[in-house]
Amino acid sequence: MKQVSAKEITARVADLCIRACVKLPSDVLAALREAKRREESSVGREILDRLIENAAVAEEDGVPICQDTGIAVVFAEIGDEVEVVGGRLRDAITEGVRQGYEKGHLRKSLVSSPLDRRNTGDNTPPVLHAEAAPGDSLKITVAPKGAGSENMSRLQMMSPADGIEGVKRLVVETVEAAGASACPPLVIGVGLGGNFEQCALIAKQALLRPLTQRHPDPAAAALEAELLDLVNATGIGPMGVGGRVTALAVNVETRPCHIASLPVAVNLQCHAARHASYEW
Ligand code: SF4
Repeated sequence: MKQVSAKEITARVADLCIRACVKLPSDVLAALREAKRREESSVGREILDRLIENAAVAEEDGVPICQDTGIAVVFAEIGDEVEVVGGRLRDAITEGVRQGYEKGHLRKSLVSSPLDRRNTGDNTPPVLHAEAAPGDSLKITVAPKGAGSENMSRLQMMSPADGIEGVKRLVVETVEAAGASACPPLVIGVGLGGNFEQCALIAKQALLRPLTQRHPDPAAAALEAELLDLVNATGIGPMGVGGRVTALAVNVETRPCHIASLPVAVNLQCHAARHASYEW
């Protein structure tokens, strides 16, 4: 069994929170640069320039890419030959989020309940998705999620009769309804199938896939390409000022589903498509 100390997990998670909020992943930065090459609108190109410059300044000065440093969504893949020693995994991750948001001077955006709306004061608890995996590695990903794009996301239990045309309609309608509020250019995670909760989760996980990596299933990859074209044809453009580049990528994930169901989740991610990972 590989042993990983809870103390080390805490330190790594704290570092991941800060790194994710300060440094845009290289594939997102490359996609913004490529978008600038394709954008036909001069105001759109100007906006893309500002976003690229903003990311560079954030990294250089060690400050957040955006003031909304989000709630901390954490994915943990725990190998069945890994033992966490000196504490529990959930506690170690929660403490890491607390320390990271404090040390990095990141905005605390979590309220303890929608009923009382009192800020928890330290951005904990995180939204933790832990999954068992084969082998002896432990991988943790921190993906801070701001409210602007999350609020504009949607889940709909469609009927199989709605078909793929219905799915396309829902994705485009979601992006159009979001307009500038989701801070485009977007990364769009689409969960197709599973059940109510699984399709939301795979839509979120889809946001973590590198933007140049297409789905291994040719049918899903073709859907990703078509959805990207449809979304970019809306003309919403960077930050909603108009233009060709409304999204940088559409990543689709699929799961088996009930014969009578077609769950679809559309998780919108703004241009601050933040995530950072560490693997033991
Ligand atoms: S949607 Fe993204 S870029 Fe816009 S305010 Fe929220 S975190 Fe920042």
